[in-house]
Amino acid sequence: MIIIRKFMPTITSFEELDKEIQKAGGKPLVLEALWDGDTQGWYLILSLYIETGVLFWKKQEVVQLGTVSFGGDIRLFNGAVPAWPEAELTKEWGQKAIKKYGLTFYFPSDKEPDDNCPGWTDRHLAINCADCNKLIIPTDSPYLPKEICYHCHLTRESNEKIKNAVPYDNGVTMYLFRNEEYKQIGYCSYFESFTIAPFIQHHVKHQLIEQAINVVTLDQPDIIALKEQLEHTLENKLATYQRGEIEERMKLFVSFYTCTYKGKQYELMNKYNEAHRLIIELISSWETAEEAISENYSYKIIFKKGITYRDDAILRFVNYVSKGTAAISAINKQYTGVLTEAIVMDTIKKLEQIGCLEISGDEVSITRTGKNIV
Ligand SMILES: [Zn+2]
Repeated sequence: MIIIRKFMPTITSFEELDKEIQKAGGKPLVLEALWDGDTQGWYLILSLYIETGVLFWKKQEVVQLGTVSFGGDIRLFNGAVPAWPEAELTKEWGQKAIKKYGLTFYFPSDKEPDDNCPGWTDRHLAINCADCNKLIIPTDSPYLPKEICYHCHLTRESNEKIKNAVPYDNGVTMYLFRNEEYKQIGYCSYFESFTIAPFIQHHVKHQLIEQAINVVTLDQPDIIALKEQLEHTLENKLATYQRGEIEERMKLFVSFYTCTYKGKQYELMNKYNEAHRLIIELISSWETAEEAISENYSYKIIFKKGITYRDDAILRFVNYVSKGTAAISAINKQYTGVLTEAIVMDTIKKLEQIGCLEISGDEVSITRTGKNIV
């Protein structure tokens, strides 16, 4: 069933939902909440199965009430945190609707988005996920296991990496640093992908040593030199700058972005134009260097070496799920069936040794160094 989202009201409170239920008329039987997704992200579609008419003229109908969505995928950052506020709210409203109408509340995936769940009337086509018991229509993809849902498939894959301590050294983070304050200015899987990489390579090579976490620092003289190099490169690029025109058929995907550099404005295509993309990135890097110079920041570039998925998972659990401090027993509980207590303890000790965690009695806390790599 294709539902055009923009024609459905967005529901943000139980009162609004209740109004839609009453508008639907008839006797409410089932309130259904199903996930769907588009380019803006995941959202829930709320539908109501109602009974109308009396005696032999009774019939059932389904009415779409509206969608629930908060948009944005910022929550993906947290990895393990099931932070889907639309699911939490919908659960709450479902309980209120049960109380008020005595209906059945059907919400097959109330913990995370999943668009493979059956609608209320398709339940007979579904199976229960072998890991989480959720009702799903088995996937027809030849590459995915059929007995579990996609979410559990990802969890199994991730647990394998944690169990086997698969290396996880990708990821370089760049910060502006001043008086114990870190401001993140960039993240790339590989150092070479940073726009400023070619200009600071010598500093990096010089400072990198054989250790788990390397912090490369650029001080003010280095940043001044970097800024000069950026200006030099920008002058060359801007000398051959051409605005160009966006082809008619590309107008849906590409637009002009106005950049100001040294008092002059340039219109640059935000996509599919390599020369423009480079100019945008160079100007943005130049602005960062300017800010660092005028506000007396240094650059800190953080590299990892010898970090595994297991280390990363435990650090993330402490930092995001436990908000910085976790009981060791809570970490053990989180990884029950994946890691033994002895392995959890070894990992904690390793993370302490490389300066990412501090152990205090039966608790661990993440350090600044630890925060810098998750
Ligand atoms: Zn599952």
